[in-house]
Amino acid sequence: MDKVLDLLILNRVKFHTLSLRGRVVMSQLPLSITMLFLLAGTWIFYPPLLSDPQFRLSMLLNAALLAACFLVPWDKLPYPSFLLIPLLDFVPIALLREGTGSVLTGVGLLAAFPVIWLAASGQLPKLSVIAGALASLAMVWIPVFLGDAAVTFKALTHPLLVPFMMLAIGITVRVMTASMMEQQRVVEAKDAELRSLLEASGRRERLLSAVLSAVDVGVLAVDEAGNTILRNRRQEELRRLALPPGEEDAPESRLELYADGGSTVIPAQDRPIRRAVRGESFSEHLIWMGRKPQQRVLSASAQAMLDDSGRREGTVLAFNDVTELVAAVDAKNEFLSSVSHELRTPLTSIQGYAELLSMAPDLSPNMVSGLDTITRNSDQLLKLVNDLLGTAAGFSELQPVQADLAEIAAQAVAAAEPKAAAGGVTLSTHSLGDLEVVCDPARVRQVLDNLVSNAIKYSPQGGDVTVSCTEGDGMVECRVADTGMGMGAEERSNVFTRFFRSPEARRGSIPGLGLGLALSKDIVERHGGTISCISEPGAGSVFTFTLPADGPPSTDIADHGSSSGRRLSAGAQPGA
Ligand code: ADP
Repeated sequence: MDKVLDLLILNRVKFHTLSLRGRVVMSQLPLSITMLFLLAGTWIFYPPLLSDPQFRLSMLLNAALLAACFLVPWDKLPYPSFLLIPLLDFVPIALLREGTGSVLTGVGLLAAFPVIWLAASGQLPKLSVIAGALASLAMVWIPVFLGDAAVTFKALTHPLLVPFMMLAIGITVRVMTASMMEQQRVVEAKDAELRSLLEASGRRERLLSAVLSAVDVGVLAVDEAGNTILRNRRQEELRRLALPPGEEDAPESRLELYADGGSTVIPAQDRPIRRAVRGESFSEHLIWMGRKPQQRVLSASAQAMLDDSGRREGTVLAFNDVTELVAAVDAKNEFLSSVSHELRTPLTSIQGYAELLSMAPDLSPNMVSGLDTITRNSDQLLKLVNDLLGTAAGFSELQPVQADLAEIAAQAVAAAEPKAAAGGVTLSTHSLGDLEVVCDPARVRQVLDNLVSNAIKYSPQGGDVTVSCTEGDGMVECRVADTGMGMGAEERSNVFTRFFRSPEARRGSIPGLGLGLALSKDIVERHGGTISCISEPGAGSVFTFTLPADGPPSTDIADHGSSSGRRLSAGAQPGA
């Protein structure tokens, strides 16, 4: 049944895919077939009509027009010339209407076929609708004028229904065709847009895959549930290093991932993908992948991917191979550490003997002054060596206890008094009573010693150094202000960088290695605090650090202790 229907309504023929000739024939066929049915009906039910000359001529013309549709090379003629056919169709219809007028009624309605064709052709839209209506009018009026009967008002108005109907049909078809054409235009425009978007996205995809295979960084994208969306070649290689021996694939929880120099297995919940699934973003997280000797050190970073509404739809993880860098940093630290140890032992002995000698009776003033110089310089040297050692070894775990920041500050100021006096610097402290804070007092004292000693050191013409401590908002704050040489903007932005020394400090031969402030910053930050500097050349400097009164965040202590949280920038990165 479906097949018959298909055949009847030409369902399988895609009209717009036919040639112009095919389309012209298909457009003419409905009228020709209807006329053929009419011929058959007449032959069966009213044979006398077959001898009517107008009827015969009408049938002949219809056949001739269909033949013309087949035979004329329409595509070689100017484009809408095929519209002649529907216009000429009115002639056989008019003849048929005249020939069968008394026998068959409603034959004039056959004009609907050419009218529809004209209006649906989409060519010369208004003209073709008007032409269809006028041809219908001509079809009903010409016989009135040519006939024997008198041309009366009634004779002219009586058949007007047909042209009116044809005009209405023409307009309706025209409106529907225009809307369909507009829809088609929109669909085609969308189609073109879609195609160009597809092309652009294909180009982007090719670019992305070229970049991903070119970079030497392992890249992994996972969805919200941690399933892999994308993994580049480098990541594939790195992952293979971490597979348990003899296995081809394994979930992240079973990969050989280590922390702390490759010695501690990273617990499943601290592994990069698990952290990414929890929505964490992180950077420079060091991971040791695989077993020695193939083991590699990777710096892992994770960045969330958000959709247009800001919802997390996954995470991109990048694994940068920093094995050589970490090895170089370790070698440097080892070197600094052994050199510093070697220097410290003889220095301590020099200090001890200088102290012993200074206790001897009857020392001449020259000898006292000489021993003073030995003690001062060896103190200075020991401080430098300690700074070097601190940099090389990093710090052991913080030992937070309840302490009084004001007291620590007072101790630091008291210890610096002799040096201040020697440099003509006036030292003073302003503290609001007890400032309770949970901190590692030895480390905080180290920060204060460094800031106070800098304030004195970089006030070569003498001046005032003020240490003031306050508290508020759950934080304690300490400021060390001097009226010394100060610094310009560029120096200011570098003071916390390892081994940085301002040109003035170098020119003035002020002793130092450029390590004290970097160490101080490290200590303050590991307490969960901040340190900053305000300074103007010639006007002095103010260094301010704050610490949380409740002590360092527990994660931070753990991070630098036993957990997997070693970061390249925390003590291990050169010049960081
Ligand atoms: P060092 O003092 O051993 O050189 P630091 O890390 O303590 O190292 O200081 C780094 C640099 O910052 C110093 O060399 C100096 O140029 C500058 N600086 C530090 N404190 C002061 C200060 N109070 N006034 C001016 N410059 C300072």
